[in-house]
Amino acid sequence: MATTVITNISSLVTNDPSFGEGPLGLIQDAAVVVDGDRVAWVGTSSKAPATDNRVDAGGRAVLPGFVDSHSHLVFAGDRTAEFNARMSGRSYSAGGIRVTVAATRAASDEELAANLRRYLHEALRQGTTTLETKSGYGLTVEQEARALRIAAAQTEEVTYLGAHIVSPDYADDPAGYVDLVTGPMLDACAPHARWIDVFCEKGAFDGDQARTILTAGAARGLVPRVHANQLTYGPGVQLAVELGAASADHCTHLTDADVDALANGDTVATLLPGAEFSTRAQWPNARRLLDAGATVALSTDCNPGSSFTSSMPFCVALAVRDMGMTPDEAVWAATAGGAAALRRTDIGRLSPGARADLALLDAPSHVHLAYRPGVPLVTAVWRRGVREL
Ligand SMILES: [Zn+2]
Repeated sequence: MATTVITNISSLVTNDPSFGEGPLGLIQDAAVVVDGDRVAWVGTSSKAPATDNRVDAGGRAVLPGFVDSHSHLVFAGDRTAEFNARMSGRSYSAGGIRVTVAATRAASDEELAANLRRYLHEALRQGTTTLETKSGYGLTVEQEARALRIAAAQTEEVTYLGAHIVSPDYADDPAGYVDLVTGPMLDACAPHARWIDVFCEKGAFDGDQARTILTAGAARGLVPRVHANQLTYGPGVQLAVELGAASADHCTHLTDADVDALANGDTVATLLPGAEFSTRAQWPNARRLLDAGATVALSTDCNPGSSFTSSMPFCVALAVRDMGMTPDEAVWAATAGGAAALRRTDIGRLSPGARADLALLDAPSHVHLAYRPGVPLVTAVWRRGVREL
């Protein structure tokens, strides 16, 4: 296997404090040696070992590829009109998620796969090298299983979200829908997914329903993650911690007990500022979670309704500007934090043994991701050691 050194890196984020300064494990004037699909060596440029190939980073910054641990990208259709009405202060009566459900059900496998491919590539261009995605716009046995098969063909992190909303087909029988989600739909979906998720919220699934759904999934080997406490206070966060969920996502409306639960449990608090941006909602308070000792991840929640951005740099900038995070904390949350939310130790860091997923910025430091919001700074990306951009 050929080895390559990427040298003349002004500032390297390793996220491994044993290799550099602070929680980001920063190394100045650094080099990374890639052997096949793995990182073989990191350190200062002058000490780099001999390799077959050499890439000059030109005095620019390198960080681990972003790990986007929450998206909804198996869908068809468009909700521009809904967004435009919301941002124009007009009421909009169309059915939100149900609009996307109808369009997704009507789409062919090829259309859904092509749509997913497009957004994965869009995310890659912005430095994302691992992206989780969910079902949840099919809401029938066949449609949910189809969505997961399509997702699994393109990404390794796939989540069964039959419990996104109660299917319109079961509007008068939500208990019947929970039986479906935990019965035949779970049977059809479990082989294609790693995770199970539920939207625990007023108007979606309450705490008891969410517990039933997540417990059934766990019995089939799917690890829970929860859409929790997004729009209102509720039981989602504490349920997530109690069930050992990998992540509680949104965490916008938190009591002190919720914050304590996250700080003392193994569940990552994943914050999704694109959703608050796109709905003009209250920001989650990252500072409060970090000060309490919780592990925080940042993710896009990319979906056509409430957060149609695939940009992790944009989320980093929002988190710094509006959620009380330092640039270092936000970059950690978007890389190592995302990896923690997916219970992965091979990504989200750049130290020996990690997967060679790297983003090169057209900037001297990772701080520029927040300092220069909206600027396309990602200029090259390696995934599994292969240069993709
Ligand atoms: Zn979501």
